[in-house]
Amino acid sequence: MNFVNVLNVGQGDSIVMRPYQGCCYADKTFFIDLGPGNTDITKGIGEDEKIHIWISHHDRDHVGGLSFFAGKFAQIEEITVPFFQNEITLIAKAILNLKGINSSKDCGEFIHALEEIVNNQVVIKSLVEGNKSCPRLSYAYEGHKFCNHIKCLNPPRCVNVFNWIDETDIRDLVETFNEVFSKPFAREMEMYIYNFSRGNRSLGTNDTAAFNEFWLYGGEEQDPQIERNKCNYVVNFLFKNVPLFNSFNVRSTRTNMRKIYNRYVNCTHDVCMVLMTYFYKQKMLLTGDASKKVFNRLISEGIDISASYLKMPHHGSKHNISERILKCINPEVAIISHDNGHFGKSKDTHPNMEVLEWLQRMGIKILLTNDVRKNGQIIMKKQNHSSDNFVTIL
Ligand SMILES: [Zn+2]
Ligand SMILES: [Zn+2]
Repeated sequence: MNFVNVLNVGQGDSIVMRPYQGCCYADKTFFIDLGPGNTDITKGIGEDEKIHIWISHHDRDHVGGLSFFAGKFAQIEEITVPFFQNEITLIAKAILNLKGINSSKDCGEFIHALEEIVNNQVVIKSLVEGNKSCPRLSYAYEGHKFCNHIKCLNPPRCVNVFNWIDETDIRDLVETFNEVFSKPFAREMEMYIYNFSRGNRSLGTNDTAAFNEFWLYGGEEQDPQIERNKCNYVVNFLFKNVPLFNSFNVRSTRTNMRKIYNRYVNCTHDVCMVLMTYFYKQKMLLTGDASKKVFNRLISEGIDISASYLKMPHHGSKHNISERILKCINPEVAIISHDNGHFGKSKDTHPNMEVLEWLQRMGIKILLTNDVRKNGQIIMKKQNHSSDNFVTIL
């Protein structure tokens, strides 16, 4: 059995890792992301395998495959989500409650993706809050050392955002919520921020429907300062995008929704889970769809991100990596999980041509889950593929 297999899930990510002897997770099978849900990623799983699911972030191409575990829930021992799981879901819910949403045109694709995010959260919540044998939920944040072999580098426990709930008049915030969102949701948000502004939010309070729905226990002690920071993170996204929300509410077009959706996706990439693993004396950097901001922060804070193996962020998009970042990571092997997908309005498909050129110029070996096609031509062939169509890494 191989230690790391990158599954070919099309345009998306799913990595299976089987930690070896000596690791505290030695008897577990890791699934790091679950793909978009088109490929049954659980096919090769034995009945006695214990599963630990790691979700780098919310996007459908990373979580969609959750449904394939339906018959195997009993085998899941742990689910690890990024520290801002609840907040990101709450933001998705906020977008779905924009006043213009019901009269929107041609926005089905985006609305569906956001609904899926909210629904997946409900599934995860019901899984981890079930009976005694239900999977444990854990949060991934910077500094969290899962064991000597696995360390989390992102998201940080505290993000750098304006302190809205302490520095602004809450009544102004509430007024804006009422202008932008449906009445019931604005009311939920009002209760949500009032709770934090009084500084008395405590674990397990179920006084607001909006938040209760997403209240996941990470088995961690709740730090009021950090919980306030999380609330500020939500408020910050909503307030920074009020002009966009307003134009969508006036003209509920696909173009306006796409702008909002892209901002949303970018913000999930800023708090995407990034893991560094240390196995076989090799470092592997697992990046999900982490944004440039994530790497630049780590570099500026002097954190060592060098690794021999790099799972390229966001399927080889050039918006998530730069030459400078690549030089800091300095990998021998770059793994690109993709199927020539398009993101937003970008001209080039994943993986980006420029990114491939950087990698080649730096002499980095490129492993692909699918051939790279540009203008209908195959320009780069996949390698290291098994008959089951996954890439063997180690
Ligand atoms: Zn993503
Ligand atoms: Zn992705």
